[in-house]
Amino acid sequence: MHIAIAGGGLGGLTLARILHRHGIGAAVYEREAGRAARGQGGLLDLHPESGQKALDDAGLTAEFRSEARPEGEEHRILDPAGRTLVHHLPRPGSFAGRPEIDRGVLRDLLLDALPEETVSWSRRLVAAAPRPGGGYELTFDGGHRAGCDVLIGAEGARSVVRPLLTGTTLAPVGTLVELTIGDPDARHPELAELVGPGNLWCVGECRILAAQRLGDSIRVGVSLPADDRDPDVYRDKRALLELFDGWSPRLTALLEPGDNPPTVRRIETMPADPGWTHRPGVTLIGDAAHLMPPVGEGANQAMLDAAELAAALIADPASAIRTYEEAMFTRIRPIAERSARIQAMMLSPTAADDLVRFFTPAAERGRPETPAVAR
Ligand SMILES: Cc1cc2nc3c(=O)[nH]c(=O)nc-3n(C[C@H](O)[C@H](O)[C@H](O)COP(=O)(O)OP(=O)(O)OC[C@H]3O[C@@H](n4cnc5c(N)ncnc54)[C@H](O)[C@@H]3O)c2cc1C
Repeated sequence: MHIAIAGGGLGGLTLARILHRHGIGAAVYEREAGRAARGQGGLLDLHPESGQKALDDAGLTAEFRSEARPEGEEHRILDPAGRTLVHHLPRPGSFAGRPEIDRGVLRDLLLDALPEETVSWSRRLVAAAPRPGGGYELTFDGGHRAGCDVLIGAEGARSVVRPLLTGTTLAPVGTLVELTIGDPDARHPELAELVGPGNLWCVGECRILAAQRLGDSIRVGVSLPADDRDPDVYRDKRALLELFDGWSPRLTALLEPGDNPPTVRRIETMPADPGWTHRPGVTLIGDAAHLMPPVGEGANQAMLDAAELAAALIADPASAIRTYEEAMFTRIRPIAERSARIQAMMLSPTAADDLVRFFTPAAERGRPETPAVAR
């Protein structure tokens, strides 16, 4: 059985790794030119029941623990005046919660656990068509071709495999503007202290100014609801700063030193119910299957999809895809619905109050400086 995985992101690589561990080969086709071709983005917190479980199935728990940063779980929520609303402190050195790991480090960890020939780089899938005798014919940018018996679409939001199964479309739910501040401890110690070792969210009406500590940089993000305005206007820092008129200068200082011009991306989602009619020999995992707002579940669920699909393929290849899809549809719907509610709450006019309620046990509400709260 020749298994092809389109996309070498967290979902595709986790799937390839678990299969490899059980003696099943798979070919991963990745559009990027190599592992260092593009920065992989910020921190991920891996949940015990999904991301961490998948890494356990991949035999990589020890490697994860040596690279993860439990202290990255610390988060602070401030109001526009800079007052602390929530300050969550994780237990020192504990992996019981949702330890954070740099996305690039996690991807490297998976790549290092695969035979080098598993991933074919510079292979952007442009078309997939059923073969008359079963399986799929794959065409890549530049004219390369390959065949497979089983095709897994793990190529993220703009999946090329998805239309083989569903006509679902993406809807915009927000805009994310990002900046990176390099070497903050030496160059901007006051910002390093403001952000701390984990996440900072400064929450206003219908906008969030967030910052996240990576190894030797701070990643700053501005989240806005989707509207009719051309989001590219925020490539101009003045337009970005105007959004935060009246906010404490201590917070807006995060927008001043970015090393490069701001990058702007639309946040899109799929409907919460990812169901499609089963078709033999082809399926989807991760964002290709269920694109959700970025509120902490997407990568975790992509990795759990990979673990569950791998388990089904190892147990019984003939029924694997149907078994995986039925369980995945049931699992994802409530998670996608909750993610959509959280996304709407975070960008609402009452977001600060709502977030404090969300993060703070009822008994602790009303205290001016909330101590450690569970996530
Ligand atoms: C700003 C932001 C913050 C987020 N934070 C979190 C978080 O804290 N926790 C969390 O769990 N999730 C988070 N997410 C969601 C998470 O990033 C995604 O859900 C996750 O990356 C999905 O993994 P994937 O493997 O399905 O897809 P991807 O990570 O998108 O990987 C797809 C891979 O396929 C490749 N590819 C794309 N098209 C093709 C093609 N045609 N042919 C070949 N290869 C192709 C891409 O280059 C990529 O390597 C966040 C998302 C965003 C945008």
